[in-house]
Amino acid sequence: MNPPYRGRFAPSPSGPLHFGSLVAAVGSYLDARTQGGEWLVRMEDVDTPRNVPGAADEILRTLAAFGFEWDGAVLYQSARFEAYAAALAKLIEAGLAYGCACSRKEIADSATHAAIDGGLAYPGTCRGGLPAGRTARAWRLRVDDAAELAFVDRLQGRIAQHLESDVGDFVLRRADGLFAYQLAVVVDDAEQGITHVVRGADLLASTPRQIWLQRCLGYPVPIYAHLPVAANEAGEKLSKQTKARALCPDMAAAELLRALRFLGQPAPDELARAPLAAVWAWAQENWSFGAIPRQPLIALPA
Ligand code: GLU
Repeated sequence: MNPPYRGRFAPSPSGPLHFGSLVAAVGSYLDARTQGGEWLVRMEDVDTPRNVPGAADEILRTLAAFGFEWDGAVLYQSARFEAYAAALAKLIEAGLAYGCACSRKEIADSATHAAIDGGLAYPGTCRGGLPAGRTARAWRLRVDDAAELAFVDRLQGRIAQHLESDVGDFVLRRADGLFAYQLAVVVDDAEQGITHVVRGADLLASTPRQIWLQRCLGYPVPIYAHLPVAANEAGEKLSKQTKARALCPDMAAAELLRALRFLGQPAPDELARAPLAAVWAWAQENWSFGAIPRQPLIALPA
């Protein structure tokens, strides 16, 4: 028997929710609920310096005001240090993770090419052991055994990377002692029994790294769907950095309708005057995964 459907929404409390986050919440929620699945909320506050005080509570209040109902307690990554440390210890024990002494400057001086998502592909300097007299600053995962890593995304189709040349051995624990998002998300998805990940296509390039980590840790691989990401008129992803407007709970019905349309759902015009519950009722009844546009980025009209 297939495991039951369990999905999640995993916001980072680096600011309030905006329209782009609403699209990910709505897509993951309706995909789960219309398949009789559970839907969990996880607060991705692992990168503590980026957390904005009060943002986590505000996000939960906004989700509730928009009518989202999550299952179980919210999991906070900031309380999960031991779980991430145990996973890293297991990888070190297995010879898959290693300490790295390289500073940013040393990597910049020795890297030969860019990584797939900006940055530089780590050239593997410390892979064979720390240079004499140096101590580990960060911990990295070896990707040297990875040939092509491919998976089929429900929306974006087949995605393949060569982890070694596209990314290089990547960081699991940073020089400041914090665990990296890639490790935290994989440990939490496994521990929470997430079967389906529905999230923004900005995370598409991270997925092969996450699948590689799942394999290294012996975890099941969830089914992935990467939704189109909302961009502003300048083509930039809506985010705190691009000054995306915070969602306003007073406008919940209108914003939900806008998110449904962004996700290709043919919501009728009468819904523009309908209360929030009626928009949700229409969405639950008429949700069509097949109608979601497949492109990774869609600019919103000005
Ligand atoms: N916390 C990530 C974000 O807000 C989402 C991570 C995920 O869905 O895997 O962009």
